[in-house]
Amino acid sequence: MGEFELIRRHFVRPVAAGSAVVLGVGDDCALLRPSPGHELAISTDMLVEGRHFFADVDPAALGHKSLAVNLSDLAAMGARPLGFTLALSLPRADEAWLSAFASGLFALADAHACPLVGGDTTRGPLNICITVFGELRPGQALRRDAGQPGDDLYLSGRTGEARLALAQLRGEPWAPPPVNAEARARLERPTPRLALGQALAGIAHAALDVSDGLVGDLGHVLAASAVGADIELAALPVAPALAALDEAQRLECLLAGGDDYELLFTAAPGVRDDVMAAARASGTPVTRIGRLTERPVLRLLDADGQPVAQPLLRGFDHFAD
Ligand code: ADP
Ligand code: MG
Repeated sequence: MGEFELIRRHFVRPVAAGSAVVLGVGDDCALLRPSPGHELAISTDMLVEGRHFFADVDPAALGHKSLAVNLSDLAAMGARPLGFTLALSLPRADEAWLSAFASGLFALADAHACPLVGGDTTRGPLNICITVFGELRPGQALRRDAGQPGDDLYLSGRTGEARLALAQLRGEPWAPPPVNAEARARLERPTPRLALGQALAGIAHAALDVSDGLVGDLGHVLAASAVGADIELAALPVAPALAALDEAQRLECLLAGGDDYELLFTAAPGVRDDVMAAARASGTPVTRIGRLTERPVLRLLDADGQPVAQPLLRGFDHFAD
């Protein structure tokens, strides 16, 4: 099977009528037509074997996750997906692997009406690079620099399960087997919060998707918006799989886990009802976990509202009080 046969067999699919795609796979460029008056939102993420996934990961799950992490960036901006490109480096043309990878990839693409419009295919170490294209109304993007002091701070879903599953798969001593199935699904098949992101456009101020840990990623919003934040630890939603951990490990999963792909966003206290209506309309759980502050410091508050010294967060000490 040559390169073109491989592309034709696994990656060329008819593009649905009514999509933004004027011309899909097969020419030198794809042509996209965004809705009149809209801005383009563009994001790229690369997944490298050994760094972002295990060599033996289920290829269907890998297809899902490769696109999910990119769609999550569109969600975090409040954008609607238009299409994506796929650059693939493959050690060999393994039919079974390719067909499973494509099935996971296209199941998620179809669920969000986000067609594959082009890409590149080459032989080399396994490496998957996707670029997504989306659109949104001018002025409605949920930018990291748009947080305001006094804003409420919200989190979709819950954090920490992906970190637990990773530790269990790696055999880290604090996370004994068996691997928790629900946590593993969060690690391998994250849900991009697209409906929530679009529902929040025009309501929320700043947003990002949590990929490297809640506290570290919040730091990006705080730096860009020149504000601080208080997180109420007791408000953080905790998955059943994390409830059994001791407190320090649980907090590390919740606050510094990574691979969560939940939305962390801020909104004025006056729009609380609108935020909760957006959560309901999009079928996404949303929890208020704190607020942005004028003083540019990140504090973790206990149930009595007292700041907690959190030694596990030493890596984030530049936010320490
Ligand atoms: P070029 O020589 O211009 O780089 P290619 O021969 O690499 O073009 O690709 C031929 C067509 O197949 C192009 O339209 C390209 O976008 C598409 N394509 C290549 N690899 C992929 C892939 N992995 N997924 C989707 N489309 C692909
Ligand atoms: Mg090429």
